[in-house]
Amino acid sequence: MEFIEVLQKRLLWAAHELMSSYGQLPQAENLSVMESAVRDMTSVLGQAVLGEWLTGQDAKYPADTVACACGRQAHYERRREALTITLHGRVSYRRAYYRCECGQGCCPLDERLGIAPGQMSEQLVKRAARFGISEAYERSAEGLAVATGVALSPNSVRRACLDVGAQVVETETRLLERSHDLSEQLRQRREGPRPERLYASIDGFYAPFEDGYHEVKMGALWETNADNHAKNIEYYLETQGLDAFSDLVWARAFGRGAHQAEQLVFVADGAVWIWRIVAKFFPQAIQIVDWYHALSYLVKVAHAAFGEATTQAKHWLDQFRPALYEGHLATVCTACRALTDLAPKAVADARHYFATNRTRLRYGKFRAMGLQIGSGSMESGCKQLGLARLTIAGARWSDPGARLLGKSRAAFLSPEITLPSLGALHVA
Ligand SMILES: [Zn+2]
Repeated sequence: MEFIEVLQKRLLWAAHELMSSYGQLPQAENLSVMESAVRDMTSVLGQAVLGEWLTGQDAKYPADTVACACGRQAHYERRREALTITLHGRVSYRRAYYRCECGQGCCPLDERLGIAPGQMSEQLVKRAARFGISEAYERSAEGLAVATGVALSPNSVRRACLDVGAQVVETETRLLERSHDLSEQLRQRREGPRPERLYASIDGFYAPFEDGYHEVKMGALWETNADNHAKNIEYYLETQGLDAFSDLVWARAFGRGAHQAEQLVFVADGAVWIWRIVAKFFPQAIQIVDWYHALSYLVKVAHAAFGEATTQAKHWLDQFRPALYEGHLATVCTACRALTDLAPKAVADARHYFATNRTRLRYGKFRAMGLQIGSGSMESGCKQLGLARLTIAGARWSDPGARLLGKSRAAFLSPEITLPSLGALHVA
């Protein structure tokens, strides 16, 4: 029988079965009942269609032999039934099975379509991970079931997240190799992206792991549109120490053509390790200390000297915030120094910070160049990646797969990232 006839028969049968169970209701109670019923129907139909379609994909008359990975020929045995877990639920299909004298079995159809029998399809992995990265796995499994009708165990959702994380690692590994390869560097110079203005930032946050708190280091790369808003943001993170992270900063920047950028702009807080990485890999970059970090030093001086929420503190800040905003550091430092007796520590901290970062505080000049002076894109990424996660009961950072989960989460926030088998993850 032709595939289309089989399909028609299956569909008619499925539709009939379903309608006989639902159709006997003289009147539906309400729209919700009807919606649920139709969704169950479409799910059953989806499984039937996909199953028949998959089976129909296989050659009608299978070849006697196919090449085995070992180099010998594998011989046709029979058609074998298999299961794949898809967006439409569990789908059974049949395909030709070959066996080689080396002991390996193979199914050309699975290889052609990228099916791992008994496993989740790539589409389902993507969907499940999307839920898994934002909530505890139990809740994610519920969310997925509500949204798609596919019932997965919390552990399957976890596996989907780790699968995406592992693909991010794979992508990063290849990028690392390329970024250290001279011919690749030359090729990148000829053919790679050549952004006009590329922004970058680096930051860290602390997260609880099984053996205590660790700093998770993360980075972001973005460009800006005509309104100077961030676009094409890409986030990445590393939990395995400063060296691993530094390599990743280099590799990710390489991927975005940072070295061919007309302007490369790093906006970050004043942490010494951050500017060390920037100086080492990107000596050409414009360095800017995030405006809100710089301002917070001025605020601390005002509060220490005059008390929080006092008119005096407000008045003083109103007077000197504009000077900082213009990059008039001498004015700012003189104003701070005048308060030394009232707030010795806050003044010393601020003066040290302003002196250390003085070239990164030329806000008047940076603004005149049309540059962003805040690392808001980075901050929001940090919140979404780290802090939001920590408020979830049973925080997943204590999970041994935390690194992969973190990388998976970063990938979903990054429209620029594409993964080997999943493609782009971002859905606008
Ligand atoms: Zn073989």
